[in-house]
Amino acid sequence: MRVVLLGPPGAGKGTQADRIADRFQLVHLATGDILRANVADGTPLGEVAQAYLDSGELVPDQVVVAMMLERLTQPDCGHGFLLDGFPRSVAQARALDEHLAELGAPLDAAINLEVAEEELLHRLAGRGRADDNAQTIRNRLQVFVSSTRPLLDYYDEQGLLFSVAAAGTIDEVSERILHTPRDVPRPAPPARSQPATSGSEGVDAS
Ligand code: ADP
Repeated sequence: MRVVLLGPPGAGKGTQADRIADRFQLVHLATGDILRANVADGTPLGEVAQAYLDSGELVPDQVVVAMMLERLTQPDCGHGFLLDGFPRSVAQARALDEHLAELGAPLDAAINLEVAEEELLHRLAGRGRADDNAQTIRNRLQVFVSSTRPLLDYYDEQGLLFSVAAAGTIDEVSERILHTPRDVPRPAPPARSQPATSGSEGVDAS
């Protein structure tokens, strides 16, 4: 299963990603974590990324796309992956789609965690990461609205979008992701060698 996890900063993507990846034995790739590790290790990539992380701007598409597509060619990703924090712009999503189309292994779902802005501000303020100061938080939310939210339509048009209310406890949200029926039936997928199994339940292991 190949899944992307979408949602604004503070939606709980990392926590839920760990659980989904665990449940379906997927490789969990958190773009922000990979970028922060590069900064911590002082790699050339980290040097480029640092100022963007600090300000809450997106690291340029070509940098992130190259980093993530390279990671996705590693053999461990062949059994399925969960992308957390990538793509974050339509340009990134297109690059990902092209790459996966070449491999004949398209995405199965885009899970969108929905949270009210007030709740996001509250959660981010309590987290204490270096980029969780008021100015950077405001910018990250702004960047989400302008660059990342358009991805919801992008994936909805492909019949891949699956939105989940992400208020409540961590367990309640996981339960919704894994078991809530989809509110919008998926259109028939394009011809594939294996027909998809039931699309009427939450994320399934197909
Ligand atoms: P959050 O979703 O809580 O903002 P992340 O760890 O996912 O936290 O991202 C932190 C920062 O890393 C972003 O503000 C951005 O600077 C950078 N980043 C992460 N993913 C991407 C991406 N796909 N494209 C560009 N920049 C990214």
